[in-house]
Formats: sequence, structure tokens, C-alpha cells
Amino acid sequence: ARLANQIAAGEVVERPASVIKELVENSLDAGADKIDLEIERGGHKRILIRDNGGGIAREELELALSRHATSKISCLDDLEQIMSLGFRGEALASISSVARLTLTSKPAAQAEAWQAKAEGRDMAVQLQPTAHPDGTSVEVLDLFFNTPARRKFLRSEKTEFQHIDDTLKRIALSRFDVAFSLKHNGKLLRHYPKASNDAAKLKRVTLVCGNGFGQHALNIQSQYQGLQLHGWLAEQSSNSPDQQYFYVNGRMMRDKLIHHAIRQAFEGLLPPDGHAAYVLYLQLDAKEVDVNVHPAKHEVRFHQARLVHDFIFRALQDALVNLPE
Ligand code: ADP
Ligand code: MG
Repeated sequence: ARLANQIAAGEVVERPASVIKELVENSLDAGADKIDLEIERGGHKRILIRDNGGGIAREELELALSRHATSKISCLDDLEQIMSLGFRGEALASISSVARLTLTSKPAAQAEAWQAKAEGRDMAVQLQPTAHPDGTSVEVLDLFFNTPARRKFLRSEKTEFQHIDDTLKRIALSRFDVAFSLKHNGKLLRHYPKASNDAAKLKRVTLVCGNGFGQHALNIQSQYQGLQLHGWLAEQSSNSPDQQYFYVNGRMMRDKLIHHAIRQAFEGLLPPDGHAAYVLYLQLDAKEVDVNVHPAKHEVRFHQARLVHDFIFRALQDALVNLPE
């Protein structure tokens, strides 16, 4: 069982940041509105995630650690309209095959918390009662301890932290209704409180993207024929890292067509050393868009590509021409 899981792990678990992405998505799926991360040494020594979501009942713990066990699909039709982020049912099994994973959980309706660990070649699950508030914790120690070939691909602590930070930023900009925190080597480095109004949201955007947004952000709000765009634009100097986030129906995307529309809208409006920074959200009928479900890609295909392109271009251009000098 461990070997099959390790092979699957090659797909899901590339580096500490991919572990974190899977674990945070599980917490979001579980309805958590507070997610705290603690990592050590860029995540390869230790990753701990704690959420206040619905939890996993004692009798489901073992199942949660086994491959293709997902509580999120009941029939194939669900695949079409899948609302929850995870659906492959192999993240926990994969991670526990390449690290020492402990799953601890307490659903509100259960009196005690229980803890599960999968160990040994056959990944037999050990269960024991423990203390834990309502919700779930997952601890991942010594990532790739038993797969030296993968371990070799881990970069420096700093680089792996950077990937984790980027992953959390992308998620934080998609879920203003959830509070996130991130500690690295005992230090609290990120804290994104829940943001329920526009001012609080812009504050989170500023925390994520830097001060350029705080002072000079341009609010975007536009709709046309079932397409809706909202978010913020800012200008940044070219020596700061790219702050470009585009979400389609809540999922972060990197897409040529979108990128082109944005670049075109900014054309001639930026100083030579400046470039566009943006946090934008496009909403449209799910039937109008195909999302590539490969976890590592962020591609999207619009059925009415021209319409979407021109809508984004106009929405941004309209906002930009009203920009005070
Ligand atoms: P998937 O998310 O694709 O279903 P995972 O391996 O990531 O597969 O998780 C397996 C199952 O474990 C989930 O379907 C869910 O029932 C349960 N689970 C995992 N993490 C959590 C969590 N943080 N809170 C509640 N349930 C969880
Ligand atoms: Mg999952």
C-alpha cells in the first residue's frame, strides 16, 4: 500500500507548498473559518495545520488516510458540478506515504478527540484518544524522509518558504471570509484576519501585495451580459515582485487571453519602469468556462473568448482613463 501511495504522491506532493495547498483546501472544504499554519525549516522538518472546521468522526479517521477515500463525491455527476476544491481522495494517503503524518480531529458532536497515524510498510492505522478543540489538525514531519530522490529536489529553506508564502497568498485572496496565520520557525510572519467589508478586504490585499495597493489602488466593478469583474488595480515599479492575481469563479488562473486583455488596457498608461499589479475576480456562468482540472495547471478556456477578452479590456480601460494624474 505504501508504494502505490508513494507513486500517487509524485502527482500531488511535489514540495512542502503542495502539501500545504492540499491541507488548506481540506480545511476550507470542511467549512473552517480559521486556519493556522506552523512550519519549521521551510516545511521539510514540520508542517502543522489547525482548523476549526467540521472535523472527522473517529470511525472515519482511518478511511480519510486511505487512498481514493473521499467524502466529497457520491456519484459521477458530482464531478461536473463539483463545488468543493478537493475531489481526488488521495492527498492524505499520498502525504502520509512520504512523511510521518498525524491526523487529529474532533467533530463538535463527538465528546472526545481522536488521533490517527499510519505507520510501517502496510500503513496500518493506529488510533488513540487525545485532547483537541473542535476541528482538525494535521501534522506532517520529515517530508520525503523515505524517498531520498524526492528529498534531493527540495530547495533551500528560504525558497521553500517562499513557495509556501505564495501558496497562502493566493488562497488568502480567494477567501476573505477565512482567517489565516502562518508561523515559520516559531515566528508569526503572516496574519490575515477575516475581512467582511471592502475596507477590510483592501487591507488584506495590501498585506498580501504590499503598500502600492493601500494608497493607490483603483477599484474595479463592472458587469456585462452575465460577466462580472471586480477587484483592484495598482501600479508597481518593475523591481518589486509581480503582484498579479486573477480568479475565475474563485479559482486562481494564469491565462494568456486574460493577460493580454489586461496588458492592452494598461498600454501607454504605465511609466517605462512600471508594470501592472492587480487582484481581480471574474464571475461567470460555470457553463461558459472549462477549467483544466490538472492540479498544477491554472488554465481556463472560455466558450466566448472574444467576449470575455473585450469585457475585461473595457472594464479596466474605463477605470484607468478616469485615473487622476
Ligand atoms: P479529498 O480532499 O480529495 O477528499 P483527501 O485525501 O485530501 O481527499 O482527504 C480525504 C478525506 O478526509 C476528505 O474527503 C475528508 O472527508 C477528510 N478530511 C481531510 N482533511 C479534513 C479536514 N481538515 N477536516 C475535515 N475532514 C477532512
Ligand atoms: Mg483534499
